[in-house]
Amino acid sequence: MATITFRGVRGSYPVADPRMAGYGGNTTCVQVDTGRERVYIDAGSGMMPLDAAKDRDMHHVFLTHYHWDHIMGLPYFGPLYAAGQRVTLYGERKPCARENGMAGPRDALLKQLGAPYFPLDVPNIKAKLEERVIAPYEAVPLDGMTMVAMRLRHPQQSLGYVAVFDDGTRAAFVWDHEYGDREIDDTLEQMVRGADVLVMDATYTVPEYDSGRKGWGHCTNVYAATLAARAGVGKLVLTHHDPRHTDGDIDEMVWEAQKIFRNTTGAREGVVMSVRR
Ligand SMILES: [Zn+2]
Ligand SMILES: [Zn+2]
Repeated sequence: MATITFRGVRGSYPVADPRMAGYGGNTTCVQVDTGRERVYIDAGSGMMPLDAAKDRDMHHVFLTHYHWDHIMGLPYFGPLYAAGQRVTLYGERKPCARENGMAGPRDALLKQLGAPYFPLDVPNIKAKLEERVIAPYEAVPLDGMTMVAMRLRHPQQSLGYVAVFDDGTRAAFVWDHEYGDREIDDTLEQMVRGADVLVMDATYTVPEYDSGRKGWGHCTNVYAATLAARAGVGKLVLTHHDPRHTDGDIDEMVWEAQKIFRNTTGAREGVVMSVRR
């Protein structure tokens, strides 16, 4: 049975406030385990404590986009510096603002390395590092599962992912997404329909969203619950918590969402969840 480990559940930047410690302060990183290979979705600060695994030597890191909260853990990812490990980075190629050309998933790591920004540089990487540029709706077969990318609506765009496991269960990972584009919303609903687990962006409350946060690329708890109900998913997990929200604030957002879709929880750092029917 596949498991999901929530390693980082915060959006925008890491926080170390004791009032936020219940849900956790690290930015987005989710680990998915099935067979021999290990899969991660995003590489936020939640990825930082990960050393080279003794039991795994293949690591697949799927990036939704390259905003810093989703890549800041990559330079600290232990397996990169261990011989015998293989790390593959997946993501889109995107236009760069200050340099000519484009940036892909490998650049999201390499541009963070080297003087004067980081003590280690490319020669320190001992793993076999590969990149695979992917496009929305492309499927990547892996050991025990297939990952399917989908287009989300976000400043400079992002990808969501649906993991289709060999036992027939499915988990969808949708964050850094804002509703409001009819075509993207309709396709998203089709892609997550009947998923056993939907992990979904719920950065804002409705009053917060309505007071100046339109266009920032995120959803509300109410929208996430409404989508979960409409798409008939098994379980909804709210994530990408706003870095100003305390545990109490998030509890209230979860309760509000439960009135619309009963089987809702808030993503908590360290929690391991089984994907089952
Ligand atoms: Zn983000
Ligand atoms: Zn973002």
